[in-house]
Amino acid sequence: MTQRAAIPCPECDREKYFEGLCYSCKNRKLREYYESMSRGQILETVENIIAKIETIDKWEEVYKDFSGLLAYQDIDTSKIADAAFQKKIFYPPTLYRNASDEIQDQLIALICTPDCAYAGHILSCLAVVGGEKVRKTFYELEKNPLPWRKNLYVDPSFYASLGGWTFDQAGNKVQLNYETCYSLLEDEQHEDNAVKVAVPKNENCQICNCQTVDILTLNGNDERLSFLGLPGLLKIPICPNCASMCEKTIVRYQIDGASTFEIVEPYTEENYLSSADFKELTTNKLALSVSKKPVYFACGNDDVSIIGGNAEWVQDWQYENCPDCQKKMKLLAALSWDQIMNGSEGTLYVEICTDCSLVVAFHQQT
Ligand SMILES: [Zn+2]
Ligand SMILES: [Zn+2]
Ligand SMILES: [Zn+2]
Repeated sequence: MTQRAAIPCPECDREKYFEGLCYSCKNRKLREYYESMSRGQILETVENIIAKIETIDKWEEVYKDFSGLLAYQDIDTSKIADAAFQKKIFYPPTLYRNASDEIQDQLIALICTPDCAYAGHILSCLAVVGGEKVRKTFYELEKNPLPWRKNLYVDPSFYASLGGWTFDQAGNKVQLNYETCYSLLEDEQHEDNAVKVAVPKNENCQICNCQTVDILTLNGNDERLSFLGLPGLLKIPICPNCASMCEKTIVRYQIDGASTFEIVEPYTEENYLSSADFKELTTNKLALSVSKKPVYFACGNDDVSIIGGNAEWVQDWQYENCPDCQKKMKLLAALSWDQIMNGSEGTLYVEICTDCSLVVAFHQQT
């Protein structure tokens, strides 16, 4: 058998076994296409989404346009929500992000029906709508479940977290994400020290002996990161090998840059990271974006890393309980491994409890 020769991507030289651009360049180009749309093109595309809304479940044109415009143009979805509701389309739930009060009330009326047929979908849509009325409804439905509850695996408070919020046992709202989002993208052009990704440490992992890194170094004094309310240096050390092969990594930080970490339930003691991988990881060119990005920036087609905002969940959305105070943690960052190590799968999610100065990092992949 003859071995097929690798074909380098004409843009980035990445080797693959098909003609044309590699997936990552293709996705980047798609992002740039949506980012560069004019006001007129955006309106026209939104009209087209509305006209063909019933085809969104085909994962083709309409789905691609919707997620592209939501992620890269932060579009108002109120008219799209009207059209979707009329056709009884409840997926993706982000269709309802800017639903009018009227649509919100109709969704609430549906979920308050004892035999609501699409309870999981309606709860997801309402979670994305968010707001006081939704919180009250969810709390009520959690305390006094309706018959549809037995067809679902989890409570309304879990569905709420899909929208980046939840509530405690007394019904008080708990915010699970930051409403500000910056991207981490490759930037060869300029040096920027607001965020550094994967800086090597002079330490080796006690489990697998791999050299460890500060996967994130955040300069909280940078104006862009002021929304985090951490005026200092936050370092998040991990073992780059174990991070994707353990239950989670728990980091205790101080805002003078001192941090320690502990690996919870490692799956193996073997180090699978080659020295070439380690070098690639630690020489990445990721930099914090100059300006804010839409909160759904990570939810487009491109593999991008974010600080703040909403994550694109590889599996089910997951908000950890703080190991110290047990309260729900807040999404601080999501790092796409492929961006820093060519061909690596999955995403590292980083969540924070600022009350306890504690961070949890965990990995998801398909
Ligand atoms: Zn490429
Ligand atoms: Zn390790
Ligand atoms: Zn805590």
